[in-house]
Amino acid sequence: SDNNGGGGEVEPSRGKPPVTSDSIVNLDHGDPTMYEEFWRGTGDSASIFIPGWQTMSYFSDLGGICWFLEPGFEREVRRLHRLVGNAVVDGYHVLVGTGSTQLFQAVLYALSPASDGTPMNVVSPAPYYSSYPSVTNYLNSALYRWAGDANTFDGDTCIELVCSPNNPDGGLRKPVIKSKSSKPVYDFAYYWPQYTPITEAAAHDIMLFTVSKCTGHAGTRLGWALVKDTKVAQKMIKFIELNTIGVSKDSQLRAAKIIGAICNGYEPVPSSGKTSQLFHFAKEKMAARWARLRAAVAASDIFTLPYELSGYCSFSNETVTANPPFAWLRYNKDDIEDLEAFLLEKKIITRGGTRFGVDARAVRVSMVDTDQAFNVFINRLATMK
Ligand code: PMP
Repeated sequence: SDNNGGGGEVEPSRGKPPVTSDSIVNLDHGDPTMYEEFWRGTGDSASIFIPGWQTMSYFSDLGGICWFLEPGFEREVRRLHRLVGNAVVDGYHVLVGTGSTQLFQAVLYALSPASDGTPMNVVSPAPYYSSYPSVTNYLNSALYRWAGDANTFDGDTCIELVCSPNNPDGGLRKPVIKSKSSKPVYDFAYYWPQYTPITEAAAHDIMLFTVSKCTGHAGTRLGWALVKDTKVAQKMIKFIELNTIGVSKDSQLRAAKIIGAICNGYEPVPSSGKTSQLFHFAKEKMAARWARLRAAVAASDIFTLPYELSGYCSFSNETVTANPPFAWLRYNKDDIEDLEAFLLEKKIITRGGTRFGVDARAVRVSMVDTDQAFNVFINRLATMK
């Protein structure tokens, strides 16, 4: 077969219809198809071949704490954090999950119920990632329950989800609940140099990451957690054992190869220069998109965006502006109540503010989709007055 990557013939992205100037553009999900261009250019450096007899056993690492963790994947994850400097890895357990979505549920299981046996409250400051309430409540668990906006939470025992940079508005966050019995869980899906300055090597008790938004391989369904406490790590592992008896080895081998290829692109003598540097590719792309979006929004005078953030990035060794993965677009007049519905009339699918715990005059728009989808979005936005 000549279609297994490796710079062969270009085939269209499967599963997504082509975008034309009058078609519906779906920017509801943060589907990271923007990254496809980069990976089409890396030749075989990120491809793997798995013979029929390989990856058959349930088990990956019987000697380690996480029996379903592929040692090669763990090695590349640690190497990536050392390269980027966004998190401390020494003294941390690395756990793998089917997306960080599964690890989030493993965390809820590990930290619940509250010490008096009642369901643990789960909170995050609004606007919060729309999956937090639904994933917390879908099983109607007696162990934990969604308790809403952390800013108005009136209690002290809780799990606080600290998403930084934040989905949907790109804000840089610290916990808002100061109580000793609150347990902050850091969702670092977007703490990568293409989105935000890397300002410190984070060293919190529980930190969640995902390949989805780092490399763009959302379909590989792989995330990892850095966990300090051994007992918490063991309970999270137990959850994944009960939930899915481990995590796809094929995905772990592929992710290890992909992460390894990213790191190799930053070795002292990169084989093919900047074209092989993922974070530089993605940062330039995001910056160009943000410049166009900000210009279109400034020209429209009916929309506003959050202020541009900037800071010194220890990875790039320069002051950089943040390029959040989503545009948090707000309508600033009062003749329209529901911005999602207004944009849908213009055939742009976005996600409305109420899903994030705020009003319907704000929407979230993906900034990581294909060039075609982004171009159509910008062109239509420019015509709205
Ligand atoms: N956390 C945040 C803040 C996200 O935006 C996403 C993806 N939209 C996830 C977690 C889940 O990522 P995944 O399950 O693909 O690893």
